[in-house]
Amino acid sequence: MQISKRVSALTPSSTLEITAKAKALKAAGHDVIGLGAGEPDFNTPEHIIEAAYKSLVEGHTKYTPSGGLPELKKSIIRKFKDDQGLDYSSDEIIVCSGAKHALYTLFQATLNENDEVIIPTPFWVSYPEQVKLAGGIPIYIEGKEENSFKITPEQIEASVSGNTKAIIVNSPSNPTGVLYTEEELKAIGEVCIKHDLLIVSDEIYEKLTYGQAKHVSIAEISDELKKQTMIINGVSKSHSMTGWRIGYAAGNVQIIKAMTNLASHSTSNPTTVSQYAAIAAYNGPQEPLEKMRAAFEERLNSFYEKLTAIQGFTCIKPEGAFYVFPNVKEAAKLTGFTSVDDFAKALLEEANVAVVPGSGFGSPDNIRLSYATSPDILDEAVERIARFVKARV
Ligand code: PLP
Repeated sequence: MQISKRVSALTPSSTLEITAKAKALKAAGHDVIGLGAGEPDFNTPEHIIEAAYKSLVEGHTKYTPSGGLPELKKSIIRKFKDDQGLDYSSDEIIVCSGAKHALYTLFQATLNENDEVIIPTPFWVSYPEQVKLAGGIPIYIEGKEENSFKITPEQIEASVSGNTKAIIVNSPSNPTGVLYTEEELKAIGEVCIKHDLLIVSDEIYEKLTYGQAKHVSIAEISDELKKQTMIINGVSKSHSMTGWRIGYAAGNVQIIKAMTNLASHSTSNPTTVSQYAAIAAYNGPQEPLEKMRAAFEERLNSFYEKLTAIQGFTCIKPEGAFYVFPNVKEAAKLTGFTSVDDFAKALLEEANVAVVPGSGFGSPDNIRLSYATSPDILDEAVERIARFVKARV
């Protein structure tokens, strides 16, 4: 059977691949620590699970409108108002099966063949593949490590062509954990307005920020920027609800209408019980979020300190999400590897620690380690990596 050219050209998700490999090694009896996962290790808060159960018992087991339950849209609209002072109406919101699906639907609905989309590196692994699946062309701009992996307005200006349609902004970032400040977003926004670029603002890690860092949405900065921006968000990371698959997009009415039309022919609607769970997530107590956020912050501080003490590891201190993204080029060299990919492979096979090579994120000198796991396991992982490096230097 012939596989389509479109799908044959896809690169498999490196994060899911490493997680699967770690799981397989574990199943075969190896004592592997997996730091590849991109999901919180906490269970979904109890009141959300109870609300989901109640919705089922009450008979909410049927299709919903394609764009999502009106009640859920109302909760999302309120959340935007409370958190960011942003006003949206329900025809400016679509609920999808996760933020990943919201992005997929957005690119399908807005890109034509050969439209260019600016993607800053390091990037989340699905952006380029989703753009390509929609017929678009990813145009990479390097977020330089010496600039905390952030791109500049000048870089955008230099890469805009007559075919540039959109730009992706992801703050806090996966994989770097870096956030853009309001001033930086304002400067980036000016170039986007000048060239009429659709801004795709992926804010899925909005609630996970640490220290003095504060998440700002580029859409908050001015009405003009709000008009130009499609915000992507969801409950996966904020409420530890990755498996429920609820994300959404907010912005231009015509785009939302087109996305909803597309969804009506693909998923019909996001899973009904999950939508009820998401209503509870936004309308119920928010204390569990702060507990999870505080736990992540504590882990980050300890993990970062120990990790950067390892010879050949240097790292920008993350301010958000739950990843660290050290540059280990020197460590790979010192331990006798010609590439960081090989170093990461040896970490899994010899030190029994699964990390994701940075090449999948467009940053081949780095590795991504998730600290969404218990402090004891993180300590053990750092010890294993440190021992591995020490033994080979
Ligand atoms: N955007 C980024 C930057 C992510 O890291 C992820 C998940 O890893 C997503 C979007 C997708 O989130 P969801 O689980 O809601 O599809």
